[in-house]
Amino acid sequence: MNKYFSFFFRPFLPLFFIFLVNTFCSIVFADNEPGVSTFMYHRFDENKYPSTSVTKEQFLDHINFVITNEIEVISLEKLIEIMKSDDTFEKKVIAFSVDDAYRSFYDIAWPVFKENNIPVTLFVSTDSVDKQKKGYMSWDQINIFVNEGGTVGQHTSTHLHLPLNDRETIKSDILKSHKSFVKHLGFIPKLFAYPYGETSKLVIDVLGEFGIDHSFGQHSGVTSSYSNHYYLPRFSLNENFGKIDRFIFAAKAYSLRIEDFIPSEMYLVENKKPNIEFTIIDDLKNSDFNCFSNPGGKWNKQIINKITSKRIQIQLQEAYSSGRGRLNCTTKIDDKWHWFGYQFIIK
Ligand SMILES: [Zn+2]
Repeated sequence: MNKYFSFFFRPFLPLFFIFLVNTFCSIVFADNEPGVSTFMYHRFDENKYPSTSVTKEQFLDHINFVITNEIEVISLEKLIEIMKSDDTFEKKVIAFSVDDAYRSFYDIAWPVFKENNIPVTLFVSTDSVDKQKKGYMSWDQINIFVNEGGTVGQHTSTHLHLPLNDRETIKSDILKSHKSFVKHLGFIPKLFAYPYGETSKLVIDVLGEFGIDHSFGQHSGVTSSYSNHYYLPRFSLNENFGKIDRFIFAAKAYSLRIEDFIPSEMYLVENKKPNIEFTIIDDLKNSDFNCFSNPGGKWNKQIINKITSKRIQIQLQEAYSSGRGRLNCTTKIDDKWHWFGYQFIIK
């Protein structure tokens, strides 16, 4: 028997070994999804606006970190292509976006992105450019940006608080931006980012009518194949949150995969102390799981109730105050931080 085994099977042993390793590895990889850390900038080196600007040094630190550590940067189009396929984000990658088309992006950041072949998407609210507002890019500059390899995304026409408006106003505002894009660029960009990162079921419904099937918010978190296509997270960078340590932490963070998140409505009108529940896909391996939120206007660690081993409930101590209610949940599994974030808009 031994002889028989040796004779017939020995040549196949290496193959069998490869099969075993592959099977084992795919099981290991299915355990987590590194995901995409998407970053969002507004202004560059405009120190009059520290809450929306990063210093030139901070920005160069970010880019240097990416280049020196050979971190893969994908375009937002690629991110969406992967989301639409059955693929998962099994390699840790990052992506860059810039909102509002300020002139400082064109002067300071775009030359750096361009020179280093780093993809970046610019989300443009068309009114500011149409009206040639001071401090904004011109259509000529946006055309140069596109011709030099940049990607443009939609950001409405008047940069309105979308959930606070009715269907007709939302539609006509988006339509107006489309007309401007066609007039000045010759096409309607596919990508969309919500002004202030604010959305609602109604807004998402209107986007669907326009054939837009993915859009970006501005809540922290890492994108995975489980992320809500109409509410993709982005890490906001400014003078306070643009320091290199925080950038590296966010760039290295893994996705925290969740599903069946409730409430399904992001815009809270009546009940400002919602029952928040979701199911965690990742194996937490008994690691600490913490959620921070700002009900009542104060950031606090929230009480977490386990409904089942996978389903959890966040027990808010107070109602959210008007504006934005944020939720950040993190856990460290096997030396990797995993991050899920969410944002409610409160009337
Ligand atoms: Zn904006």
